[in-house]
Amino acid sequence: MRFFALQKLADRKPVNVETPEEKLSDYYGVYVFNKKKMQEYLPDEAFEAVVNAIEKGTPINVKIADQVAEGMKNWAKAHGATNYTHWFQPLTDGTAEKHESFINTTSDGNVIEKFSGKLLIQQEPDASSFPNGGIRNTFEARGYTAWDVSSPAFIVGDTLCIPTIFIAYTGEALDYKTPLLRALAAVDKAATRVCNLFDKNVTKVAANLGWEQEYFLVDKALFDARPDLCLTGRTLMGHSSAKDQQLNDHYFGSIPPRVKYFMKELEIECHKLGIPAKTFHNEVAPNQFELAPYFEEANLANDHNLLLMDLMKRTAHKHNFEVLLHEKPFAGVNGSGKHNNWSLSTNTGINLFAPAKTPEGNMLFLTFIVNVLMMVYKNQDLLRASIVSAGNSHRLGAHEAPPAIFSIFLGKHLNETLNRLEENIGNAKMTPEEKKALKLGIGRIPEILLDNTDRNRTSPFAFTGNRFEFRAVGSSANCGAAMTVINAAMAEQLNDFKSQVDDLCTQGISKDEAIFKVIKKLIQQSRNIRFEGDGYSENWNMEAEKRGLTNIPKVTEALLKYKSGQSQKVLLGEKIFTMSELESRIDVELEKYTKKVQIESRVLGDLAINHIVPTAVLYQNRLLENLRGLQAIFPTEEFRTIAQDRIDLVKDISKRVTAIKILVRDMIEARKKANRMASPLDKAREYENEVNPYLEKIRDHIDHLEMEVDDEIWPLPKYRELLMNN
Ligand code: ADP
Ligand code: MG
Repeated sequence: MRFFALQKLADRKPVNVETPEEKLSDYYGVYVFNKKKMQEYLPDEAFEAVVNAIEKGTPINVKIADQVAEGMKNWAKAHGATNYTHWFQPLTDGTAEKHESFINTTSDGNVIEKFSGKLLIQQEPDASSFPNGGIRNTFEARGYTAWDVSSPAFIVGDTLCIPTIFIAYTGEALDYKTPLLRALAAVDKAATRVCNLFDKNVTKVAANLGWEQEYFLVDKALFDARPDLCLTGRTLMGHSSAKDQQLNDHYFGSIPPRVKYFMKELEIECHKLGIPAKTFHNEVAPNQFELAPYFEEANLANDHNLLLMDLMKRTAHKHNFEVLLHEKPFAGVNGSGKHNNWSLSTNTGINLFAPAKTPEGNMLFLTFIVNVLMMVYKNQDLLRASIVSAGNSHRLGAHEAPPAIFSIFLGKHLNETLNRLEENIGNAKMTPEEKKALKLGIGRIPEILLDNTDRNRTSPFAFTGNRFEFRAVGSSANCGAAMTVINAAMAEQLNDFKSQVDDLCTQGISKDEAIFKVIKKLIQQSRNIRFEGDGYSENWNMEAEKRGLTNIPKVTEALLKYKSGQSQKVLLGEKIFTMSELESRIDVELEKYTKKVQIESRVLGDLAINHIVPTAVLYQNRLLENLRGLQAIFPTEEFRTIAQDRIDLVKDISKRVTAIKILVRDMIEARKKANRMASPLDKAREYENEVNPYLEKIRDHIDHLEMEVDDEIWPLPKYRELLMNN
């Protein structure tokens, strides 16, 4: 398999991609049913209704829905679509769809068109096998998808895709989108109320998301020759390559032609689907790359990210690549994350995280920044719960990605400004100095902060001039989970802020003073979450502990914090989840963890026993044959001297083969025990604590054998081949 794959690789030619003849503006969004298309294909009445639904959330009636369905279908057919599907985000990885044809044949041989408002608005996919954490018994199997008007329909291949939420017949959320929409509504409401303390013209606050997708590209033939990559998305074994990222030459290097063509095609396809992709570049590890678009409103941005992950895989195949979205496909080289750049902006065009030119504007800015500090401080555990997973656990806490401890990097100037404000905590009125600080100090921030220093790169939650960058999200994750939690927690914090200000006002304190007082208090209370130093250092671990910041390395324990007192205050209090939705969500995440480790353990057991051990024994037999030959012609004394290295090697191979066999047997026993656990929590804990550790131990022996056995017979593509051959 390995040599066959390497031969294919040697014969690869870049697959050329032509630049489109039309201008970018002509093909941008051709496959999206955006406002422009709606205006063209919908009656005025329907167009207005949809715009109102998008902007104000007004419901759409059946008559209008029929008109929209008709227009949408006509547009889609004009672009070659013959099917439609509700496109939704179940709690698995990725998205799901159930295709239906626009036309049906009737029993008398005629064809009828079937796509009505009813079918646009709601579908009932036969979705009994999607994870639901006990909300929906499989025999009931009733889940509904319902149209999300705020995200435009689009065409992929011959299918019109309609973004939808996915809920149980009882109305409970079974997906990532529903809670996200609830959280976005909650933060809109809470932030608008706080903005109204400063400016009555603000009627809407949108949460924005700009993700940065990291990924690896591996040649398709080599990928196919690695069952672990095919089945688990990561390599479960493989000795490190003599050269990988030590020289940092990939980061600055030019992009190889094969990859360049892939990126070019991906960019064109993104643009046709209205995904505003803008930067493509190399990442730290060999064969690692990143794609970042312009930021968008969070719900749309997340849909676009999910669509992109799918598009990447399809485009990669055309170029004989496989895309690896796993957080840690290769041990010992950098893993992949998906930084979530997050900001809040008003309908009046103000970015609430951007410093303003005037002291008044900066009071608004400061209000939001300080509330973010407090939000993260109070909700460290909830934020962590939203990003942990089997894959991400290999990345977090390692010396490359954000530590499992939460802290916020603000940058020198903003940090000093807050320190100065805090020193004057007793004063309700702004001192002239503080006024000056607001005017000058913050006014200077942008230039300095926009320059990303190395230090701020180690921060899991960094202020980068006009947004916060949440860096702990995994590359394969649905950003919806993190975005739901951040925005819900921000809503809760802003509501708390507003009521504290209101309380002071009812005591006769002026509004400005009240705001200032609460800001100072929050600066003081959240002080421990601010950290400007190196997040990867040992010292920080100790200091964080002294500060009382939490550090929960275990996935299962981290997930349980979805239910902590503070988390419930946010998630139930802001009506993001009901208690049963919350509990089911935790169960689904635990089960996902269990299944991933279970699959990895099975695949490794199989590879170890059926691929590696036989190869090692084969090589050992060759050595034995060699030894017998030497023994036949050399006197005993001399034989011992010249053959000792091979005798040692035979022994070492024996030792490792035996160890592998014992470890695999014990791992299977541990799995059996874990499988008998009834509750999702006990099972996941057992997998994490008792099964998972075997993976590393077995791998260690295999990686040693890889260095000992003849390269000619090693069955699996090696790291140097997987990582270096573009
Ligand atoms: P870096 O790698 O230095 O973080 P990139 O240019 O790769 O920078 O990514 C920056 C990301 O931040 C992009 O996705 C961009 O759209 C996003 N972004 C920029 N401004 C904002 C903002 N105000 N709100 C949300 N995201 C933003
Ligand atoms: Mg970034």
